[in-house]
Amino acid sequence: MSHAAIIDGAAFAAGLRSRVAEGVAAFRERAGRAPGLAVVLVGEDPASQVYVRSKGKATVEAGMLGFEHKLPAGTSEESLLALVAQLNANPTVDGILVQLPLPRQIDEQAVIEAIDPAKDVDGFHPVNAGRLASGLEGFVPCTPLGCLMLLKDRLGDLSGLNAVVIGRSNIVGKPMAALLLRESCTVTIAHSRTRDLPEVVRRADIVVAAVGRPQMIRGEWLRPGATVIDVGINRVDAGEGKTRLVGDVAFEEALEVAAAITPVPKGVGPMTIAVLLRNTLVSACRREAQPVPSGLC
Ligand code: NDP
Repeated sequence: MSHAAIIDGAAFAAGLRSRVAEGVAAFRERAGRAPGLAVVLVGEDPASQVYVRSKGKATVEAGMLGFEHKLPAGTSEESLLALVAQLNANPTVDGILVQLPLPRQIDEQAVIEAIDPAKDVDGFHPVNAGRLASGLEGFVPCTPLGCLMLLKDRLGDLSGLNAVVIGRSNIVGKPMAALLLRESCTVTIAHSRTRDLPEVVRRADIVVAAVGRPQMIRGEWLRPGATVIDVGINRVDAGEGKTRLVGDVAFEEALEVAAAITPVPKGVGPMTIAVLLRNTLVSACRREAQPVPSGLC
């Protein structure tokens, strides 16, 4: 018997995307141009190709301009930096996203830091990370912002809740913790050196798992009634030569204990692209000194 509500990230993301599309239509009317998102892909990593393709499609569906730049795997850091500089200077580009990971010969951090923070819709630039940590307006990484939207939609006011974030990457864990702190949660960040993780997780009203280890978080670790956001995307063997995607949380076990949980797939995943579109529209509005439409947060 299952108890937990399943948080439908796909449905929430579809709603956000249609609100963004409305905002884009209003922006086009006022600014006389569409918001533009440039996506840069270096090399032929199959997963990255899929992400870039779906980002491009979603951009066009939202009524924005998509600029796709596909560079060969052997591209030098210098040429990638030159492209980023060109996109920084291009007034029709409101958002720049360089798909990670990058090939070995390119210093990822140098590329992230070369992006104009005002066009950094991925929110990875240290200026935007610092602004988030300081409680200032900036761009917040898409996946954690999407997780926060799902949490607020489910729980309303998060103030005073115990939140445990498992994972401390710059892309998910750290910005997630900063966002939860901004919402006045009591935040614990767990990672590979954390002692007695089950005990830490048991204190949490909110668990955000961003580890990258299939079904590592067990149902018995959870506090009854916890809200669980599973960021993990892990491909595992499903027998007969097939594979399937699972999260970082043992979903079936968690259903018995938690109050609500995001599934994998169709939980956090669809939120990432929806928030990317949202961030691009916000960037365009800021750059043209237009009001940011309400209902996008
Ligand atoms: P990283 O590999 O960068 O970070 C993983 C984190 O998990 C690290 O901080 C690591 O700790 C911690 N960790 C590893 N093993 C353990 C352990 N045994 N116990 C506790 N903590 C542990 O991953 P990302 O943050 O980039 O991604 C995390 C997951 O989220 C992945 O499955 C990824 O595919 C998924 N993802 C999904 C997205 C989406 O839905 N759109 C977007 C981005 C990511 P330490 O720092 O000590 O090494």
